[in-house]
Amino acid sequence: MSTKVNGFVFYRGPSMLDGSPIIAIATGTAKGSRNAKTGGEVQTWILRDDLSPVDAVKVGADVSICGDCKHRGMNGTARSCYVTVFQAPLVVWKAAKRGLYPDVSPEAGAAILSGKVLRLGSYGDPAAVPVHVWRALVAHVEGHTGYTHQWRTSDALRDLCMASCDSAFEQELATAQGWRTFRVMAQGEALLPREISCPASKEAGAKTSCSACKACGGTSAKAKVNIAILAHGAASKVNAFNARA
Ligand code: SF4
Repeated sequence: MSTKVNGFVFYRGPSMLDGSPIIAIATGTAKGSRNAKTGGEVQTWILRDDLSPVDAVKVGADVSICGDCKHRGMNGTARSCYVTVFQAPLVVWKAAKRGLYPDVSPEAGAAILSGKVLRLGSYGDPAAVPVHVWRALVAHVEGHTGYTHQWRTSDALRDLCMASCDSAFEQELATAQGWRTFRVMAQGEALLPREISCPASKEAGAKTSCSACKACGGTSAKAKVNIAILAHGAASKVNAFNARA
């Protein structure tokens, strides 16, 4: 693949959540992300193939890539997800429609991603993509991070992703099911046993980036503790997904 191409399509097919057509794209393979928190991770975008992410949200078709995540809202209203779909997701979707990103097999993708840090699901829940695709992609990475709201219904991603939790109750449920967790705390809430503040969070001094930390890699990560972050500012009404951005 040309070094000028900054991404690739690694999945086109039915959503594992509802069977609708989706596309999954990796970006930042030639140059890293500029996001200070995520650092140089390669990002992945899980999108409806047949609808722009903006239209998908408007008609509720984002259920195919977000499942029952409460932060989707309802047909674009009462949406609390931090991802502004008319920004990066729309840009990436349009670029894919123009044919900017080549299709590669997960195995070829794994070679491109060798030695990099991969974020599973910068937008979209990793559970929408077949788990064998992720397993192939991470074969040679230096690390990976990922978060899923689908932890109640499947444990297939337990070794690759954190369970996104919006309360101490959810955190207890998820850990009882064998997940490592990423929890957003309200201001004033305390850390739970075996839980630490995300070292990239403001409250922990923003000491690192996800690409350096790599703690949020599910049960296969070196880190064994659970992670928490305080909801800040605009993210204060929302969840792990938001506070993580
Ligand atoms: S704890 Fe998780 S979210 Fe925080 S820097 Fe590490 S990998 Fe990123």
